[in-house]
Amino acid sequence: MDPSILFEKVLVLNKYYQAVHITNLQKAICHLVKGTALVITEDWTTHDFTEWVKISEFHAENGAKQRFIRSPSLKILLFDVIYLPKNESLPQSEVIFTRQNLFLRDSFTCQYCGKLLNNPKDRTIDHVIPKSRGGKTVWSNVVLCCKKCNLKKGNRTPEEAGLKLMKQPKAPKWQALILEEFPKHKREKWKKFLKFAGLFEEDT
Ligand SMILES: [Zn+2]
Repeated sequence: MDPSILFEKVLVLNKYYQAVHITNLQKAICHLVKGTALVITEDWTTHDFTEWVKISEFHAENGAKQRFIRSPSLKILLFDVIYLPKNESLPQSEVIFTRQNLFLRDSFTCQYCGKLLNNPKDRTIDHVIPKSRGGKTVWSNVVLCCKKCNLKKGNRTPEEAGLKLMKQPKAPKWQALILEEFPKHKREKWKKFLKFAGLFEEDT
């Protein structure tokens, strides 16, 4: 078994089925064994450890193509989301302002010309209303910008520089950021649970 499997990300839901956290498979299995967590599948069914082992055995015997975690005595079917029936922590509503979070919010794309900025060297941060004119470093006034557009804009507002923002900047929701951070197959599997809590907007 590839040991990196144990570090695969698992989404954690609180007792109200809201996504509150991300953990890894190793920790999730500990919770499962202790009985503090249940596996939750896409149809919202929850399974305790014993049930999940049985389901895993069934899939293994039927030659399922799913991936398993193997120990000498057990085969456990990989899962993506756990449910903590006693957890009352609430989702964070605000995302901390950092460069990385800004890049994630703006999908690594220049907010003026739309160019994808894969190379960190090409990324600059633009104050929509320039700092020199009292523009603040807050989510609603800061965007990711390529060097070329930044140079063109200089110490002006977008209107003055003849530039147009692709969208009005605003504070992101952390769940949307989570989705950006992980591979597409995880995104698809988590989306349903994030949307249920009303915390993931398709368009942001
Ligand atoms: Zn640009």
